[in-house]
Amino acid sequence: MLRTHTCGELRIQHVQQQVTLTGWVQRLRDKGSLLWIDLRDRYGITQLFLEEGKTRPELLQAARGLGREYVVRATGTVVERLSKNDKMPTGDIEIRVDSLEVLNPSKLPPFTIEDETDGGDDLRMKYRYLDLRRTPVRESLLLRHKMAQQTRAYLDSLQFIEVETPVLIKSTPEGARDFVVPSRIHHGEFYALPQSPQTFKQLLMVSGFDRYYQIVKCFRDEDLRADRQPEFTQIDCEMAFITREDILNTFEGLIRHLFKTVKGIDLPALPHMTYAEAMSRYGSDKPDTRFGMTFTEITDLVKGKGFQVFDGAELVVGICAPGAASYTRKQLDELTEFVKRPQIGAKGLVYARYEAGGNLKSSVDKFYTEDELKKWAAAFGAKPGDLMLVLAGPADATRKALNELRLLMGSQLGLRDKNTFSALWVIDFPLLEWDPEGSRYNAMHHPFTSPKREDLHLLDSEPGKVRANAYDMVINGTEVGGGSIRIHDRPTQQLMFKKLGFSEEEAKKQFGFLMDAFEYGAPPHGGIAFGFDRLCSLFGGADSIRDFIAFPKNNAGRDTMIDTPSTISAEQLKELGISVAG
Ligand code: ASP
Repeated sequence: MLRTHTCGELRIQHVQQQVTLTGWVQRLRDKGSLLWIDLRDRYGITQLFLEEGKTRPELLQAARGLGREYVVRATGTVVERLSKNDKMPTGDIEIRVDSLEVLNPSKLPPFTIEDETDGGDDLRMKYRYLDLRRTPVRESLLLRHKMAQQTRAYLDSLQFIEVETPVLIKSTPEGARDFVVPSRIHHGEFYALPQSPQTFKQLLMVSGFDRYYQIVKCFRDEDLRADRQPEFTQIDCEMAFITREDILNTFEGLIRHLFKTVKGIDLPALPHMTYAEAMSRYGSDKPDTRFGMTFTEITDLVKGKGFQVFDGAELVVGICAPGAASYTRKQLDELTEFVKRPQIGAKGLVYARYEAGGNLKSSVDKFYTEDELKKWAAAFGAKPGDLMLVLAGPADATRKALNELRLLMGSQLGLRDKNTFSALWVIDFPLLEWDPEGSRYNAMHHPFTSPKREDLHLLDSEPGKVRANAYDMVINGTEVGGGSIRIHDRPTQQLMFKKLGFSEEEAKKQFGFLMDAFEYGAPPHGGIAFGFDRLCSLFGGADSIRDFIAFPKNNAGRDTMIDTPSTISAEQLKELGISVAG
């Protein structure tokens, strides 16, 4: 080794030892008679110093010639610092340098490589290898490593087997477009990159593997959206001979194990909430349960008082924001503007203040007396000091808009702390969802999800009402994982494809292999997949998943460091049998 210790290792007990360190020059401070260098490696930072009069002049001169990010090797003696830095693990000591070797100089980096950087997103992405030298980014990847290790340890202890599935496959529908790879040998034919290993993990159950997992890359060619990566990682799992409860228990165990071992947090048991309840109480299938403010429906209470907006509405529903009666007129106008944004889509906002003194005042005083408002307060469970916020309109759209308002209020009132974790299972999702553009039903999860047996009779008459054996794990309003109990017999799978508008031929062409396999002793099975990048960012208390991926794509789906996607040569295209117009 070129070094005796790392830059994060030395403490007061090493004083007087002769050591050699290697690393990058983070900073140079030249005070004339004294020169300090912060030397950084992956383990930490150690302060080096040279002193006029005590250090050889040529060494001092060499040190003065160092620039940021030079790679150096320094030998010297560990000494106790006069002024200690208790913010640094190595802050009690420094190294009195007596030899210095430049292993490689560096150009001036395009941004400062420190915890707080002056580099904007684009620059950091282009020079990602430099960004990765920064402690917060490195720590995010370290967290990811720990999460992966602990995932493997937990699943291994339960006899799960990690199996690699292929990347050059045929379409596996998860609701996105496929990335495709042209075949050189078979012109006009294409592989698809997996949106998930779904069909393969089911085939592994048919093979008798019984408990499978894989930490695996998946690819989805979706429309660009902030913080979405075209390639991402899942913890993908499948089990045979299980009930839904077995799956929920096993993977609740995984998440609690991760919280315990990675963050030292004892996560309480996860409550189960049906999709129907989540929608009616939170207006969302991924409710943020770190705080209350659940929905109260007051449709019947408010009708017939001459207020047209409420009288004509399918649903009148609101939330009670604790302690927010003191909101100013301006703040309330801003909330109204917020709900009227096209993305939110409400027509307006009605509010009623339960003033600290006990009076009730609303934006619809013309129609509702204080006695009427008292009834509202009773329905909401409002106390003096609280603010009731009410929306009205078509049921689904109004609930969705109120969900947005609830989240905004939660943030404004400081109820969405990143270090508080609230996890739950959302269960009994609808099997199908209506696609108005295609005028047909799509699978809400994917076409391999089994319907709940007790709802099967509705499949013909009211397909939208059939519930699925599907579940999501939700933490702090984010869906971190989802899965289902699968169909495991050919007739049901065939029926499912038919309901989804596949012709018999199409279904056979795309998924014949799976339906064939179901005829050779397929065991009952089910599984789940967790979004690993998202889970890591949640554990890291970050909004973005980018820093938890070593080399991510930007919001336009590009890697600006290696500059891709990019064109390929005419020769390559010819070989692939592809002609590009224009
Ligand atoms: N393949 C599913 C997904 O990617 C997860 C599952 O059903 O296990 O969402």
